[in-house]
Amino acid sequence: MINTNHKIEYDVSKCVGCKLCYKACFVDVIRWDEEKKQPIFKYVEDCEHCFFCAAVCKKDAITVVPDYSSEHLLQAFEPYK
Ligand code: SF4
Ligand code: SF4
Repeated sequence: MINTNHKIEYDVSKCVGCKLCYKACFVDVIRWDEEKKQPIFKYVEDCEHCFFCAAVCKKDAITVVPDYSSEHLLQAFEPYK
């Protein structure tokens, strides 16, 4: 289990259900709720912080908030030390 406090903030009041965030996420953190026509965020600890979901959202409904002190991100930076 990765120790992390990564967050993805989602404002449903801004969302228009375009599905672009779901299509942009290549690690399956964003799933799609067909009934409600809105994204579901699962296993946020697996987020790779590419910011694609936030970038494609034309309604500014998504904010990716990485936990820069987390084990996951520190491991990613290890080869560059
Ligand atoms: S990209 Fe933005 S507006 Fe479109 S479904 Fe995702 S959160 Fe909603
Ligand atoms: S930042 Fe990238 S990996 Fe993380 S939820 Fe958004 S699209 Fe998926």
